[in-house]
Amino acid sequence: MTTEVPDEHPRSDSLRTRHRIEAGVDAGLTHKQGLIAEGRGEAFDYLLGERTIPSAERAERAAAAHLLRAEQPVISVNGNAAALVPDGIVALADATGATIEVNLFNRTDERVAAIADHLRAHGATEVEGEHADARIPGLASERAKVAADGIHAADVVLVPLEDGDRAEALDEMGKVEVVVDLNPLSRSPQVAAVPVVDNLVRAIPNIAAHARALADRSAADRERAIDEFDREEALEAAEQTIRTGELD
Ligand code: ATP
Ligand code: MG
Repeated sequence: MTTEVPDEHPRSDSLRTRHRIEAGVDAGLTHKQGLIAEGRGEAFDYLLGERTIPSAERAERAAAAHLLRAEQPVISVNGNAAALVPDGIVALADATGATIEVNLFNRTDERVAAIADHLRAHGATEVEGEHADARIPGLASERAKVAADGIHAADVVLVPLEDGDRAEALDEMGKVEVVVDLNPLSRSPQVAAVPVVDNLVRAIPNIAAHARALADRSAADRERAIDEFDREEALEAAEQTIRTGELD
């Protein structure tokens, strides 16, 4: 399969992203359902203008501040995230001291191991999730299986492409959730302390960049980034952008 996409193609970024998900399925990282999730995401991204809108930029800065302030921040990784932004995930973990944990809806030991190996190949030193020895209470799906010293113990969790059920269950556990999801109406961003309505391929490296910048600032500056962020306003701005269809 060729993955050459000419730069001048108007959808070149989105086509490249799609190819990465296809390759992820072929490599055993991404479940077939991930292709459907990607398709849904593409539609929302198209309407957002395939760019980081200003409210998402503010969310990404607040997300970085939360991860830096946390005592036990965890980045939850699924098959789409691993296929799309492995370098970004590792960079974000490095910039914030967060633990990386593989957590899958369609969980098999093989796929968890493939994703963990893939992240290690991209420079991750430690990846949790292969020995999930705890459960998220009140959640029936395989996503309930978590590491006791990972997601179970975390105070802040970054969850890309979360399903609504786990997002609600983590919220019930009192965790601060940063959710990256292109659909502002989905349940997961609706329960997040920090809903990031942006494509993972832009959001994750951008949160890492904000974390590197904020790490050099004062604690008060980081607190301000958290306090000034308005989740309702961010969700509203994203929905407005999508509904009005004004691409610039
Ligand atoms: P629930 O209602 O439980 O939240 P859902 O119906 O939203 O579930 P999926 O279709 O699996 O379940 O959701 C995938 C979500 O991930 C969609 O909201 C889609 O917009 C989003 N998404 C897909 N690809 C990306 C991406 N690259 N970056 C950010 N969000 C993405
Ligand atoms: Mg959803």
